[in-house]
Amino acid sequence: MLETPHALVGMAIAATIPNPLISLPLAFLSHFGVDMLPHWNWEPDARPLSLLGIILDLILLEILIGYLAFQSPLKLNLTAAAFFAILPDLLEAPYIFFGHNNRFVKKLCDFQRRIQNRTPILPGIITQLLLSGLCLLILKS
Ligand SMILES: [Zn+2]
Repeated sequence: MLETPHALVGMAIAATIPNPLISLPLAFLSHFGVDMLPHWNWEPDARPLSLLGIILDLILLEILIGYLAFQSPLKLNLTAAAFFAILPDLLEAPYIFFGHNNRFVKKLCDFQRRIQNRTPILPGIITQLLLSGLCLLILKS
């Protein structure tokens, strides 16, 4: 799944469960559950188009965090939850982009590859838009 929906799910969890001792681990675990939903994603590699897509996704994510979190009294929780929700993918970055061969990261990458539920682009984007819309409704209520 793209990073923006992952982060929105984490933020929606933090908005629903303000206790960070509960919401932050849930935000982290949500990453794996969300990746099991049918979705389209960039190939996790260092090709220019994939890199551009990943960078644009992260820019959108930053804008959304800025817009949603910084006007909320829960801004620290929401920002931390967004971070924890994308943390599994951030941990993979050194392996994918620099070939860093760490055993823990390799196991994480293998696990994440196994649970991905990839679809063609159109249905795979629609599911992410629906999920993101649901999270925005929760965040704006
Ligand atoms: Zn992932």
